[in-house]
Amino acid sequence: MKADIVTIFPDFFRGPLDYGITRRAQELGLATIQAHDLREFTHDRHRTVDDRPFGGGEGMVLKPEPLFECLKSIQLGSREDRLAGNMKQSVVLLSAQGQRFTQKAASELALLDRIVFICGRYEGVDERVAEHLADRELSIGDYVLSGGEIAAAVIVEAVMRLLPGAVGNEASTLQESFTVDPKVRASGGADSTCGSNGLLDYPHYTRPAEFLGIAVPVELMSGNHEEIRRWRRQRALEKTLRNRPDLLDGAALSEEDKKFLAAIRDDNKDRG
Ligand code: SAH
Repeated sequence: MKADIVTIFPDFFRGPLDYGITRRAQELGLATIQAHDLREFTHDRHRTVDDRPFGGGEGMVLKPEPLFECLKSIQLGSREDRLAGNMKQSVVLLSAQGQRFTQKAASELALLDRIVFICGRYEGVDERVAEHLADRELSIGDYVLSGGEIAAAVIVEAVMRLLPGAVGNEASTLQESFTVDPKVRASGGADSTCGSNGLLDYPHYTRPAEFLGIAVPVELMSGNHEEIRRWRRQRALEKTLRNRPDLLDGAALSEEDKKFLAAIRDDNKDRG
């Protein structure tokens, strides 16, 4: 996979993507990341990338011409072909107004060969870019950043760790928070590896077994696989109910899960 990042701060990407799994993916030749300096696609002495908004108002807006010219130099298939799914390519505009980026979107993007990220700045980007150049607008959450660079780095990291071979133990990416393993969903419930199936991940512990007088839960020390599975699943259910109840709607829940949740809800009701 190749990620092309269009930005006025190309040096920004020297740091954050040169560690851990994104570094490994690049070293293994699974991925390449190239930052493109938007100012190289300007033609005036001041290398101007922004201008005042039509209609008045605060701030500056990224001009369309350098972005269109930069994308032309990247030489993708046509936007029609990309949108029709004929190319394994996508042009993503980072935007607070975009669809929210999720683990599901990460696994869809991980199937592509090439992704171009357009990083906005200032008040945003001339809307013709969203409508005629980019294939989709993505937001990394309901808050406003001052540029798309950190958002692009977040998406690149979430996507590249899903490339086959990037993570040493591939099965582990199927067991994480938010992840629905289609095989397990089809079988209708929790599997023996305690995959999250759309819930938050279960709690993890390592040595020492006792630290500052706080012991690791006995269930994990039992060596009893069924007991460990049940404990992990129940903790994942509890935490999801407490921190992200919205995720329960999309999760693959077994009868055992549903009974357990109903019992916690009853308990909470009794306590008022
Ligand atoms: N005026 C805009 C915010 C512009 S912030 C608004 O109110 O929606 C400047 C740039 O930062 C944006 O063009 C976008 O590229 C980036 N950005 C800001 N918040 C973001 C978010 N939540 N997700 C992705 N990109 C974001």
